[in-house]
Amino acid sequence: MADHGSIRLHVTAPLAPGASVLLDEGQARYLGAVMRQGPGNRLRLFNGRDGEWHARIETLGKKGVLLAVDERLRPQTPEPDLWLLLAIIKRPALEWAIEKATELGAAEILPVITARSQPARPAPERLRAISVEAAEQCERLTVPLIHPPRPLDAVLRDWPEGRRVVAAIERDAAPPPPAETGPAALLIGPEGGFDARELDAMRRLPFLTPASLGPRILRAETAAVVGLALLQRPSPS
Ligand code: SAM
Repeated sequence: MADHGSIRLHVTAPLAPGASVLLDEGQARYLGAVMRQGPGNRLRLFNGRDGEWHARIETLGKKGVLLAVDERLRPQTPEPDLWLLLAIIKRPALEWAIEKATELGAAEILPVITARSQPARPAPERLRAISVEAAEQCERLTVPLIHPPRPLDAVLRDWPEGRRVVAAIERDAAPPPPAETGPAALLIGPEGGFDARELDAMRRLPFLTPASLGPRILRAETAAVVGLALLQRPSPS
């Protein structure tokens, strides 16, 4: 197999044959001091728009890295149109769930405030850094868009037409999540679950389908992983 370099970085610059990409100080430190890379070494780049590209380090200094882009390794291809609405849970669990949702292909992640969600607001730049690193590692061609936290009722009030919400509700006689083919979103509650008022309001929404993830009560972060995987299983033909 061709050696295209095992390091894979997300960049914002356009990627095209002959393009130069300037990386910032943080990425220079990562490539030089952590990964021990230098001029001539190869790596892969993606920006969420132009596919995946092979690039070579031209210069690497304390202040930055200059890369020369050459051949395209993969074209940009469509990814699952699946969102995750996740109640704000304790920080380590939330960060784990963001990493796993990125690996599982979530296109957008919406942290939501519910009656029993955690009061602390996650730092958007920290969540973004986690999802960039996970996208680099898992070889996807995009980084999920992470929205600022909003109250769940406001998010559902402004819900876009044509996108189904599959709400994971424990101890419910609902069927498992359907294998989704169109635009969809998975909704996961906080450690203490949704309260009665929230459950009531959800059941009245025509675009929302309750779903069970089985007889055991899963932690919210486990439920996010299971739900995202089930929604993407191939539908029986
Ligand atoms: N209310 C529960 C309690 O306090 O015992 C726990 C809620 S659970 C830890 C957190 C979230 O994970 C729930 O709001 C739900 O979205 C999801 N969840 C966990 N287990 C589930 C299951 N078996 N079926 C569907 N959803 C589940």
